[in-house]
Amino acid sequence: MTRVLILGGTADAARLARALDGVSGVEVISSLAGRTEGIPHLPGRVRVGGFGGAEGLARFLRDEAIDRVVDATHPFAARISAQAAQACAQAAIPRLLLLRPAWQPEPGDRWVEVDGFAAAAAALPALGRRAFLTVGIGEVAAFAEAHGIHFLVRLIAEQKLPLADYRVVTGKGPFDADAEQSLMRANAIDVVVSKASGGAATYGKIAAARALGLPVLMIRRPPPPEGLSAGTIDEVLEWLRG
Ligand code: NAP
Repeated sequence: MTRVLILGGTADAARLARALDGVSGVEVISSLAGRTEGIPHLPGRVRVGGFGGAEGLARFLRDEAIDRVVDATHPFAARISAQAAQACAQAAIPRLLLLRPAWQPEPGDRWVEVDGFAAAAAALPALGRRAFLTVGIGEVAAFAEAHGIHFLVRLIAEQKLPLADYRVVTGKGPFDADAEQSLMRANAIDVVVSKASGGAATYGKIAAARALGLPVLMIRRPPPPEGLSAGTIDEVLEWLRG
């Protein structure tokens, strides 16, 4: 029996857990940070909450006799990925990073790429006055100093934000490009702020910005940890068979 720990919190991680459901000789534990309310329905065992850093994760790997780790966390969840790399190295457990392919610019795209949220906030006033801000709740504060800008902020739930002029729109992906276009038009958006997350679920706003001729302030991904990586679930399944 191979015991696989999936570090999750993404649709890809959920897809992987489902793909491994019923595969003989494989037992899956999915791990979630616990940022969202409720536990998603996933096959196999699900554990929720931090491990207590790399040391805690290494301990978990030993205590649970984990054979392999698939880091299927979000490309911007840099801390857990670094900790997984460290813990797996320490516990001598093979680890694979499932990293969804990055979006590629297409003709008509007007991307301004920056490294980090502070750089995005600094670059924003030169690009527009009414921004569609699609970063995580923990990253909104970085835009507090971007004065003179109205923010349309999409969040999973309504929340008070440290911004001078904003409106929250709630929603959870996947987001359709036509609906994104209507939302941007209705709010007279002139710039979109996005993480370079990749994946289909949040691509609608990128396609919509292209259609409307709007610039996208694209925050580059943090560098992933060194080591093996896969771009698709099939590649992960192949790695687990090997
Ligand atoms: P992060 O900054 O990399 O991690 C912060 C801490 O959260 C980690 O040190 C760890 O706590 C805990 N943690 C994160 N993922 C975990 C997991 N799968 N299982 C157990 N503990 C986990 O992560 P984040 O950016 O806050 O994201 C949190 C979760 O939301 C991730 O699992 C990620 O896949 C998902 N997510 C993130 C984004 C994003 O844009 N960042 C978007 C969609 C989904 P300890 O140090 O105590 O172990």
